[in-house]
Amino acid sequence: MGFKWEGLSHRVTPMRIALFYALIGEAWILLSDHILGFIVTDHQLYLRLEMAKGWLFIAATALFLYFLFQREYNTLRRYEKELQKDRENLERYRLLSEDTLDLILFIRPDGQIIDANEAAVKRYGYTRQELTNMPLYKLCLPEDKLSVQQYLKKAPQGIQLESRHIAKDGSAFPVDICAKGATSNGKPIIVSIIRDISKRKKAEELLTHQAQHDALTGLPNRYFFNESLCQALTQSRNKNGKLAVMFLDLDRFKLINDTMGHNLGDQLLKKVAERVGQNLRAGDTLARLGGDEFLILLPDIRNDQEVVFVSERILKVLTQPIIIEGNEVYMTTSIGISLYPNDGSDMETLVKQADTAMYFAKEKGRNNYQFFNHELNIKANERLTTEYSLRKALAREEFVLHYQPQVDLESGCIVGLEALVRWQSKERGIVPPTAFIPIAEETGLIVPIGEWVLRAACIQNVAWQLQGYPPMRMSVNISARQFREVNFIKVVSGILEETGMDAHLLELEITESVAMENGAASTEKLSRFKELGIRISIDDFGTGFSSLNYLRRMPIDTLKIDQSFIRDISSDQNGEEVVTAIIQLAKNLRLKVIAEGVETNTQWSFLKNQKCDEMQGFLFSKAVTSEEAEMLFEGPII
Ligand code: C2E
Ligand code: CA
Ligand code: CA
Repeated sequence: MGFKWEGLSHRVTPMRIALFYALIGEAWILLSDHILGFIVTDHQLYLRLEMAKGWLFIAATALFLYFLFQREYNTLRRYEKELQKDRENLERYRLLSEDTLDLILFIRPDGQIIDANEAAVKRYGYTRQELTNMPLYKLCLPEDKLSVQQYLKKAPQGIQLESRHIAKDGSAFPVDICAKGATSNGKPIIVSIIRDISKRKKAEELLTHQAQHDALTGLPNRYFFNESLCQALTQSRNKNGKLAVMFLDLDRFKLINDTMGHNLGDQLLKKVAERVGQNLRAGDTLARLGGDEFLILLPDIRNDQEVVFVSERILKVLTQPIIIEGNEVYMTTSIGISLYPNDGSDMETLVKQADTAMYFAKEKGRNNYQFFNHELNIKANERLTTEYSLRKALAREEFVLHYQPQVDLESGCIVGLEALVRWQSKERGIVPPTAFIPIAEETGLIVPIGEWVLRAACIQNVAWQLQGYPPMRMSVNISARQFREVNFIKVVSGILEETGMDAHLLELEITESVAMENGAASTEKLSRFKELGIRISIDDFGTGFSSLNYLRRMPIDTLKIDQSFIRDISSDQNGEEVVTAIIQLAKNLRLKVIAEGVETNTQWSFLKNQKCDEMQGFLFSKAVTSEEAEMLFEGPII
């Protein structure tokens, strides 16, 4: 950068100085000669004065030149000092800029890049040459052109902003820009420190993704679903449109998870998510709520039929076996559906109604779908009140046991009793177990209720013996949930110990599905009971899908033929055949067989002929209170 006469005032250019000098010189010579000739006549004096005039002129111009150059010299010195300072500044910027990972651009106020550091050269992919001759906006996205103008305006005062820049290869990357005004060569420049924040943005995106998605399946989570539902609701409201929320809950997933292990359970969930997802439209949202629960949003539907179609397709694709590590797993699901605007107008209501409908789909026998309707809500509310009252009933000890005698068909003697629970509700009167046991099962309340039943039955049994009645077997119903409890064996043995009940007189009634549920684990549990001397009976036999092979290996004592088969005796041939077959099977397996629900003499004599061991039913007695039972013990033998 060469020296220009910029330190001088505009009017004092070298040409002007020369002209000025020539003009003054000429004027001086002409004027002084004339004046001198006019006033001095003596030739000698004239010559001397002429010389003095020359000397004077030289002295005056020397003085003039001295002041002129002195002034310029000072300006130059000052200018050079500033230049040196600028150079040092720029050098300092450069040194700093080369050392940093940040991209640094030196920009003229008009937006022209004048220098860049090594990091910038590398990141943008241009050579330093290319970069230093480029207008800034070439590094920015076309849509940011206007913001570049704003940026150039504000940068000299200092500015920080986030934007996106483009490299030579056309790839855009997010940047954080911090700019400040400075001077270079005495001219204002902008020093722009740019940080490539791709990694930070990715990390932020990852965090947002994680906050909105389920880690196992990668599906949106509840939070994300709610956001989508909110948006879809706004759109539907504006367009007077319809939308559907579907609540999916896999059937018996817990059973599979428990028997096959959590690892396989996880894989199953992934496969299910995949399959369901493949059968939705692009705009639909499938989310996992957690466990085996999923939500689907169908925005913008025209009619209910569309939802029926989607539901049926989902049920159908899930009936195909899922292969996991060589195992074929069959998975079904229950679907509850709520519709906007019919069933609710806000997010919470729609999800709640779909959940309620799902619950009733399960009740209807699983593997089906159910639309929400207001009757379901009433039923659901009833369930809630029952649950609340049941909790109170437990605390207030509102449960009582009734006992139904089990009679030996050969001797006609009472050989055992089945303890059947009743709820004596202050508000509702006597509530039969069928009205509250399923709710107690679901809510887990069956565990403390069942424990109470077992203890009360044992206490009664011991009391009867103390009163002098002959030892009688006591059968107690055990629900699936109770049987699954890890400390169940401990609870039972604790109660036996606490009440002084003879283990051989206790019989636990479980259903086929409970016995089969956990395979080896269940058999193991049953064996532990056997070791304690407790008897095991299979309740409602014939209604489940027991594999006979399995049954053979199970440590059980009794089969209770389900009432439905006994009811069919004499009404049709088939019933009799089934009962005969079960009795034969029990005999083969050396199991005791009890017929339940015997109401008629025909049934009684048929069973007796078939050598059924025992019977239980209204023909002899319904379930009665302990006092009534005592009267039966004392009554005549049939
Ligand atoms: P379950 O174990 O099959 O009990 C037999 C049911 O059949 C009893 O109904 C009994 O009163 C009824 N029954 C007995 N003889 C006859 C008959 O000749 N004809 C007809 N139609 N019915 C007869 P209940 O007491 O209402 O019990 C219903 C179910 O509730 C029981 O079926 C059992 O599954 C459950 N349950 C009862 N008490 C308990 C309990 O303490 N714990 C658990 N977990 N479940 C229980
Ligand atoms: Ca029973
Ligand atoms: Ca039964």
